[in-house]
Amino acid sequence: MVSPLRLLIFGRQGSGKGTQSSRLAAHYGIPHISTGDMLRAAVASGSDLGLQVQSIMSDGGLVSDELMEGVVRDRLGEDDAAAGFLLDGYPRTPGQAAYLEGLLAPAGVTLALNLDVDNDVVVDRITRRRVCESCGSTYALGEPAADSGTCTKCGGSVVQREDDTEVAVRKRLSLYEDQTAPLLAFFEEKGRLVTVDGVGDPDDIAVSLIAAIDAGR
Ligand code: AMP
Repeated sequence: MVSPLRLLIFGRQGSGKGTQSSRLAAHYGIPHISTGDMLRAAVASGSDLGLQVQSIMSDGGLVSDELMEGVVRDRLGEDDAAAGFLLDGYPRTPGQAAYLEGLLAPAGVTLALNLDVDNDVVVDRITRRRVCESCGSTYALGEPAADSGTCTKCGGSVVQREDDTEVAVRKRLSLYEDQTAPLLAFFEEKGRLVTVDGVGDPDDIAVSLIAAIDAGR
């Protein structure tokens, strides 16, 4: 039996992780599991979890490792994740990385992908980013849907994410440097890290990622 493809994707907020994750998930036929999307759905539904994380998220802070453990354990335990998955947004702290290693033992993570994009580029990208409240499509200022506030795919309202303001973005980037970037060394030491330049045509970046995964799995 082919071993399950368990991919992680790292990159600063605004590095294009979401876009590339959807493409990779479709290419390999595995679910794209975004902890940010799961938490936003919990907030939108008004669930207990949503109420607990709402203000942390809008400030750009990190939800506690303990709370995240339950979220990730339950989601990775679902049937569609048995044959592999692409995890986006987790782990984000050393504690989360250790927890995930334990959860996936003995085989562990197949590969950790790092989409490399500089700070200044992502601050500009994120503060221009707009998202459809109904279907989740993302746009940038300058595109008709973002400028008009109406989604060209579904007609929903196109707004700025609460945590995409410059203050919240800077906070998230500094947490990324402090907490998440050091995890890259953890996967590199295990020979399971692939870094790809995240600036350029999204199609070319997807081709590079797929080549790296096929070579490294
Ligand atoms: P993202 O869409 O990945 O940028 O996540 C949006 C927000 O959700 C983050 O700024 C955090 O507040 C929260 N979040 C998502 N994933 C995690 C995680 N693994 N650990 C802690 N907080 C998280």
